[in-house]
Amino acid sequence: MSSTLITRIGTLVTNDPALGDGPLGLIEDAALVLDGGTVAWAGRAADAPDADERHDAGGRAVIPGFVDSHSHLVFAGDRTAEFNARMSGRAYSAGGIRTTVAATRAATDEELEANLTHYLDEALRQGTTTFETKSGYGLTVADEARALRIAARHTEEVTYLGAHIVSPDFAEDPAAYVELVTGEMLDACAPHARWVDVFCEKGAFDGDQARAVLTAGMAKGLVPRVHANQLTYGPGVQLAVELDAASADHCTHLTQADVDALASGSTVATLLPGAEFSTRAEWPDARRLLDAGVTVALSTDCNPGSSFTSSVPFCIALAVRDMGMTPDEAVWSATAGGAAALRRTDIGRLSPGARADLAVLDAPSHVHLAYRPGVPLVREVWRRGTRAV
Ligand SMILES: [Zn+2]
Repeated sequence: MSSTLITRIGTLVTNDPALGDGPLGLIEDAALVLDGGTVAWAGRAADAPDADERHDAGGRAVIPGFVDSHSHLVFAGDRTAEFNARMSGRAYSAGGIRTTVAATRAATDEELEANLTHYLDEALRQGTTTFETKSGYGLTVADEARALRIAARHTEEVTYLGAHIVSPDFAEDPAAYVELVTGEMLDACAPHARWVDVFCEKGAFDGDQARAVLTAGMAKGLVPRVHANQLTYGPGVQLAVELDAASADHCTHLTQADVDALASGSTVATLLPGAEFSTRAEWPDARRLLDAGVTVALSTDCNPGSSFTSSVPFCIALAVRDMGMTPDEAVWSATAGGAAALRRTDIGRLSPGARADLAVLDAPSHVHLAYRPGVPLVREVWRRGTRAV
């Protein structure tokens, strides 16, 4: 394995406070040495050791690759008509998630995988080097298991979400569907997944059902994460903290007791502003969570219904503009925060020993991610020490 020196970095975000200024561990006029797929050294360019190869960043900023800890990318079809109706002020009654379930069931394995890799490439070009993704558009034993098998070919961070909605096949008997999700479907899916998730929400699964889904998954060795408090107040966040879930995702409608619970536990609050943007909903209050000491992650929630963006930079801009985050906090949450939501310490930072996953921005500072919204600032992406974009 050869080593590479990336030098003349304008601003380097290490996310290691021991290496530089503030929580982001910022270093100006910096350099990085990559040894194979790992960061070997980070510091001032003037102090950098030699390496086999040399790469000139030309004064640009370098940040850790984004860790997108919440997406739904195994699906077929799209929901353009639904979005168009919603944004045109018309009621849209047909379908929702069921439209995607029907299209996903009808797709071949090859079609699903081609769609997944299409959106992964799109995300990579925008700086995402690690992503989590879920099942949840099959809702049968065979369709959920195949979604996870396909996802597992592309990421270690695979989540079983048989409890996305009650399958339309069980509309008259939700209890029987929960039994399937916690029984035969779980048995078929657990070998392909790391995480178990549930949409705990009015119209999806209530607190008792969510608890049944999560504890059954935990008994099979899966680690819980929860779609919690997106559309309404509810029990999801406090259930997530009680079960020591890695993450409570959405967190849009929180009581003070919910905030206190998050602050007292190790569950990360993952905010997904693409969903609020795409549904014209109320923003989650990131400031309130941060001020309470909660660890916050930012992710895309990329899915064809409620947040069809794969762009973490877009989510950073929204979080800064509308959710009370500073640019530094938003960049931290989209990198180190995402890693925390996946309980990973090898990614989301650029300090010695970390995976050499990084993005070079066409800007001198990471602040430009919020300052220049909608502009494609990601110029290069390196994954495991190799330039991928
Ligand atoms: Zn989601």
